[in-house]
Amino acid sequence: MSPGAAAVSSYRQTFLKLADTCPHSAKLYLETGGSTDGNVNDGGIREAPLERGKAFHEFAERAIREMLHEGLTSLTLPHARSILNDVLAERDRLVPLSDVELLRIAVSHFADDFVLPDADVHFEERVSIDLGLVEVTGKIDLWWRDGQTIHIRDWKCGFGMPPPGSVASSVDGMRRGAKAFQLVVYALAHEATYHEPGIGWYDCRFVYPLFVGLPEREVIISHGELADHSRWLEGLVARTHDHAVSGDWPAMPGKHCQYCPAPQRCPIPDDLRPVDVIDLFEDGPVDYALKAWDLQRQLDRLKLTLNGHVKEYGPVPVGEDLQWSFIDTQTGPRFGLHKREP
Ligand code: SF4
Repeated sequence: MSPGAAAVSSYRQTFLKLADTCPHSAKLYLETGGSTDGNVNDGGIREAPLERGKAFHEFAERAIREMLHEGLTSLTLPHARSILNDVLAERDRLVPLSDVELLRIAVSHFADDFVLPDADVHFEERVSIDLGLVEVTGKIDLWWRDGQTIHIRDWKCGFGMPPPGSVASSVDGMRRGAKAFQLVVYALAHEATYHEPGIGWYDCRFVYPLFVGLPEREVIISHGELADHSRWLEGLVARTHDHAVSGDWPAMPGKHCQYCPAPQRCPIPDDLRPVDVIDLFEDGPVDYALKAWDLQRQLDRLKLTLNGHVKEYGPVPVGEDLQWSFIDTQTGPRFGLHKREP
């Protein structure tokens, strides 16, 4: 990709999310995907989980539309399944059987637990933030207003439901924080698009339909916090614009490598990255599971052996300041690698 190729006037939040953690992955996203209209970056390799997510989003959009049209607050399972069947029949891309089965599960959870809010509901609406040279765009799956609060919902169709603490922290009994990139950008984009007066809070949640009960991970953002978030986003967009203009997209490995659009094209050698790429269409996941199981058994064996040795002969020094030993904890002695007492 030539320098300047990505320096267009509109960035999708998906693209910026990648640029936030590893600029090179954002470049790969552009290189491996198409462009929707020549001005909006819409790339990334299309793969089965992505298609599954898109199919569920289509289902949810139609389901909500029908509920509004027919004056329903929820759907029966047969009704929900017939909408899903229509979605699958009309899709031009293949959804493999395993994903169809997962979609049926998600739809059954939707039928069991989704209740349409008693409010003016908006869904699949395009939102944008005008930053002068660049516009940041996204689509909010579902939102509604209740008093001074805007409720934003985003469907997540994978099994990667993070522990609550990795989305937000509890401060004074409220879920606060800015660790959920997408939700923060949606709150900013909602504010910039609708300019609703009198907003006090944004209650933003990821919703996980593959799990029973449609569990959520939420972050609450006060209206006053938006200015700080906005400054952060402007900084990210400016940095990304610089990468695009110069053609210099540094690679920064981390746990986020598992979401990289094309890790095979990463300039960082595999062994220097913390996460490998699993080929879903070979035996990759099974090989990994078997290897992890084998290593776990070896680790358990090593620990039991060392444990017995330490019981007989005392701590085993490791390096300059560590040792395998027992330490006293509130729940009893704990065996492991600990700092050596001076
Ligand atoms: S594999 Fe990791 S370091 Fe390499 S481009 Fe992708 S996200 Fe960046």
